[in-house]
Amino acid sequence: MTKPTHQAFALMLTGAGIVAVRKSGHDISNLNALITLAAASYGSLLPDIDDPRSWAGHHLVLFALPYWIFRAVAKFLGWLFRSKVIKEYSDELGHRKILHYPTTYLVSFASAIIILKSTAYRNDAVPFWLLCLITGLMLLGPISHAIGDACFGSLKLLAPFCNKSFSFTPFSTGSIVEKLVLLVLVIVDIPLLMSIFRA
Ligand SMILES: [Zn+2]
Repeated sequence: MTKPTHQAFALMLTGAGIVAVRKSGHDISNLNALITLAAASYGSLLPDIDDPRSWAGHHLVLFALPYWIFRAVAKFLGWLFRSKVIKEYSDELGHRKILHYPTTYLVSFASAIIILKSTAYRNDAVPFWLLCLITGLMLLGPISHAIGDACFGSLKLLAPFCNKSFSFTPFSTGSIVEKLVLLVLVIVDIPLLMSIFRA
C-alpha cells in the first residue's frame, strides 16, 4: 500500500472506533479525537521506518535513525560473534518484519498498560480507561498498515506465532486497484470525519 492509502485506511478504522465508543455512551472530546486520529494517521506510516527508501524512512528520522543504528549494531554483533541467534534476530529487524507484525504493537500496548497501572497512574483530565481506549484506537494505525500490506503484497500477519505469509489479493502496491481503494476510502472518510467533529 502507498502512503495515502495507509493513512486513509487508518483514519477510517480509527474514526469508526471513535464513533462506536461515543455511541456506547463514553465521551471522547473533539480534541482527544483529533489527537487520536493524527496519531493513528502517522502511526500507520511508522512500520515503514524499516525501509530507508520509504516516506517514513526519509521523514520520521527521529524514529528511523535509532532503529537503523540498533539494526546495524545487531548485524555487526551477529557477524562479530558468528552467532546464528543474533543473526536471525537482526534479520527480523529487516523490511516487513518485526515492525510490521501486529503482535509487536499489541505486546507493546499490553506492556505499557501494565507499567502504567503499576505506577498508580492518576490524571483527572485523562482517566485511565480513556487513556487505554485512546491508545488502543491509535494502535489501529500501525495494525491497519500490516493489514494493508497483506492486501497489496504479503506479510506474516501472525508472526512470531505462525510463519504463514498472508496475501489477501493478487494486486500490487500502486496498482490501479489500490488507487480505486483509496478513492473509496476517501469517499468514506470525509463524511465520517465530518460527523466526528460536528458532534
Ligand atoms: Zn509496510
